[in-house]
Amino acid sequence: MLKVFNTLTRRKEVFRPIKDRLVKLYTCGPSVYSQPHLGNFRTYVFEDVVKRFLVFKGYRVRHIMNITDIEDKAVRAGRGSMKGMVRITRMNEGVFMKNARDLNMLPADEYPRATENIAYMVRMVKMLLKREMAYKDEKGNVFFDVSRFPNYGKLSRSRFRHSLDRRVYKDDYYQREAGDFILWKAWRKSDGDVFWDTELGRGRPGWHIECSAMSWRYLGTPFDMHMGGIDNIFAHHENEIAQTRGATGKMPAHYWLHVRHLIIEGKKMSKSLGNFYTVDDIRRMGYGYDVIRAHLLKEHYRRRLNLTFRSLKRTAAEIRRYKSCAKSLGKSRFWEDAPEADKLCRETLSEFNRYLEDDFRVPEAIEIFCTFVCSVQDLIRKRRFGRRNARNVLETLMRMDSVLGL
Ligand SMILES: [Zn+2]
Repeated sequence: MLKVFNTLTRRKEVFRPIKDRLVKLYTCGPSVYSQPHLGNFRTYVFEDVVKRFLVFKGYRVRHIMNITDIEDKAVRAGRGSMKGMVRITRMNEGVFMKNARDLNMLPADEYPRATENIAYMVRMVKMLLKREMAYKDEKGNVFFDVSRFPNYGKLSRSRFRHSLDRRVYKDDYYQREAGDFILWKAWRKSDGDVFWDTELGRGRPGWHIECSAMSWRYLGTPFDMHMGGIDNIFAHHENEIAQTRGATGKMPAHYWLHVRHLIIEGKKMSKSLGNFYTVDDIRRMGYGYDVIRAHLLKEHYRRRLNLTFRSLKRTAAEIRRYKSCAKSLGKSRFWEDAPEADKLCRETLSEFNRYLEDDFRVPEAIEIFCTFVCSVQDLIRKRRFGRRNARNVLETLMRMDSVLGL
């Protein structure tokens, strides 16, 4: 029985999808105004393991990951030119896709771009206006009226110190204060030619409505699981719930999972500290993508991952050892089949499954995987290893690796 920690209830809950064997999953994708960094990939790689484990458990997964290619920072990066913005966002989207492949992430079923779903955002905003959950100001901006949504703050358990009697105009990833938040931004001079002419007037969507509209379009409401980084809890996901429930009357998702941050050598990653790394920066230091992937999974997702270069070296050595063991299995001589090997396979798989079922204890699952390789080597040394055993071992390894992707 799979149990997941649901941010909505702050409890581990038994995971039950809406439709028997199908899981609908939405994960907040990259903001492509700049290159995705290593910290972003901690979240994406964990999400990939969740998806792979659901497949391992026999579910079919429909996975949508959006591409945020329009928001304040993207407009600024393009200096108010649509052409400039598209050039930058497409380039960074390409880097993201390449790194996702490098890190062996299974592709999502679709990667909808925000700029290609403006019509759905407009539709949703219109629904909110009609239900009087939103209002237009004198400049043509549309805001969500938080006072009309009594459940506001439930996901983040925020007790708002400031009155909600203010308006939040910016698309701010690190927003801390609440208030009526923006759904539609009327055109301003600084937007240049970045705008859409719609029934809401000339302008562009706010960041939060993008994910509500795209998850609604591609998965419907409600869907099963919504994931993202921990800084999405407030305000992004709080606002998504308000928007989707406000417009459709239904929750967007039943289970909300959030991944904590990655820090480097005990410090927050930032450009000003000079410890800001992309996946390829680490690759250029001589670490393989498999090492990077393994390392990003080395701490439970609800704990902060402190990446140090010493620990990264350790992971590299572990991966080298495991890969050479796996290779030597292929070259092994065979003796008579022994029952211990089959028993080892059975027990390993069941333990592996048990750890992952307990809110995705991936570090322990990796440990099991490595221990298994060593134990098999032991059996070979003792000549307790036959052809059937070898097939069984290989299958066990492949089953586990279908989840870990190493
Ligand atoms: Zn999102």
